[in-house]
Amino acid sequence: MNPRVDRILFLGLDGGTQTVLQPMFDRGVMPNLRGLWERSSHGSLVSTLPMVTPVAWTSFLTGCEPGLHGIHEFFHLDSERRCFQANTAKNIRVDTLWNILGAHGRSVVSINLPMTYPAPAVDGLIISGNDAPGHRAAISSCLSFAAKLAAAEPGFTTRNLWKTRPATPEELDTTCRKTEAQFKSLARAAIMADSEVNWTALMVQFQNLDGLLHRAWPELNVDGGPAPSPAGTRSVERTLRTLDEACARLIDLADQRGAAIVALSDHGFGPCKSVINVNGLLQAGGYQRRLSYGTRFRYRFHRLSDRWRRYQLGRQGTENPPVSRTIAGEVGCDWKRTVAFAPFGQLSACVYLNQDQVHTTARADSLRAEIAEYLQGARHPETGERLFVEAFDMAQKYGCNPAEQGNPDILAGSVDGIQAQAKWDPRSSALSGVDRSLPGTHYRQGIIAIQAPGMTSGPVLTGRLADVAPTALTFLGIDVPGFMQGRPLRPGPAGEGMNTAAFSPTRPKSLRFDPFPGEPPTPIFSRPELRERWVAVPKDPGTSS
Ligand SMILES: [Zn+2]
Repeated sequence: MNPRVDRILFLGLDGGTQTVLQPMFDRGVMPNLRGLWERSSHGSLVSTLPMVTPVAWTSFLTGCEPGLHGIHEFFHLDSERRCFQANTAKNIRVDTLWNILGAHGRSVVSINLPMTYPAPAVDGLIISGNDAPGHRAAISSCLSFAAKLAAAEPGFTTRNLWKTRPATPEELDTTCRKTEAQFKSLARAAIMADSEVNWTALMVQFQNLDGLLHRAWPELNVDGGPAPSPAGTRSVERTLRTLDEACARLIDLADQRGAAIVALSDHGFGPCKSVINVNGLLQAGGYQRRLSYGTRFRYRFHRLSDRWRRYQLGRQGTENPPVSRTIAGEVGCDWKRTVAFAPFGQLSACVYLNQDQVHTTARADSLRAEIAEYLQGARHPETGERLFVEAFDMAQKYGCNPAEQGNPDILAGSVDGIQAQAKWDPRSSALSGVDRSLPGTHYRQGIIAIQAPGMTSGPVLTGRLADVAPTALTFLGIDVPGFMQGRPLRPGPAGEGMNTAAFSPTRPKSLRFDPFPGEPPTPIFSRPELRERWVAVPKDPGTSS
């Protein structure tokens, strides 16, 4: 393979979508990224199932779909200890792009990318993403650089700044300013790293763009929704302008070093029309029983003792608590009458069988098939929309034993605009609702722009996240490892935005953009009495994303 470039700059625009970029280009808010887009091969990048940060960025890093890389959600289950824990880089089952470059004697700078804790042992500098258990953990592989960075950038943080939706325009403005400071310091950190490392790949991931899109979607004023406050729109536009300026500094750096540029997002974004109660769905299907009065005490006890334990660990400064959350403290159901439960999951139904109540392999097999079919057919009672893009038995689809890795037995990915989630107010039996703190959510179509020799400019790319690593390796003249499922992206005919080379034969059908064209809406439940359980708005869905 002929190397076309010696270096690649990756700009991680978390949650970046053309729905936001195009209006911002048109309004003159993001002139530098607009320029990059105009010079580049650009188009859409399809996310993973489920389309959440750790799953998607791991597909970027490995060139594989989740069935192979093994990350299916933020967490995995430890069924022996009846608890679940965060997935980290240790749970990725294949080599990552950074490891592969390291094995070829190349150096890597990676700043704030999820699923890079613990940091891969490669030459260069890795500041892990905010999924690392604390700031000290995130910088643990580059302490001397981190000390210099702290001196130059005292406020440097990779913290999630958008935990809830700001209540007032003033509060929104404050969070926007913190985000701007973070975007600037991320770019400065990369420029400092450049003076120390002769890098082959340099990546800066702007994670808090995702938070802004989740919490301040209406203020972006991009989808013809209800009129937002003009002050709020000014704040978010200023933050996007700052992001554009931070990217401009990095684009300049790439130009000075003769590097190719790959700007991408891990998923798209759009308005969140509805949230869905996954455990409620399982209850409505008869797979889970709600708690009767007496057993609620036990559930509350587990919840409180979980909280107390986390508080104690925090006080001791334990950065990586061995037990994150117990199942009993997250799912309040009657375990003796429950065969399926979802302990965690955002934008998906991550369903586990309750092994204590499923006694035979045959029963487990039939339950997995039945629940997958049930979720596949589930529809929203008000709109008739399907809730899940695809629901499947993990063992069957991926030919693996999900229990070995603590992964769910059944997985179903949300359709665009409808966020299924395990977390729900235990007092509420509503199956759907609107989360006022979450006006925006992930959509399947992300973005990509590539500026590199041989890549013609225009809207000519269509690919999936797993295609990016093989594309990068091809640019660098490094053989693409056989395990990678993605294919190098090549520009398709201008205007058509189609790159057939990017589609591997195993590409799941579910990744089509419009998965259910022309299908008439049907009610979610065949039994009308179950529909009565639907309540439009629960008091407090208690979501976070
Ligand atoms: Zn993300």
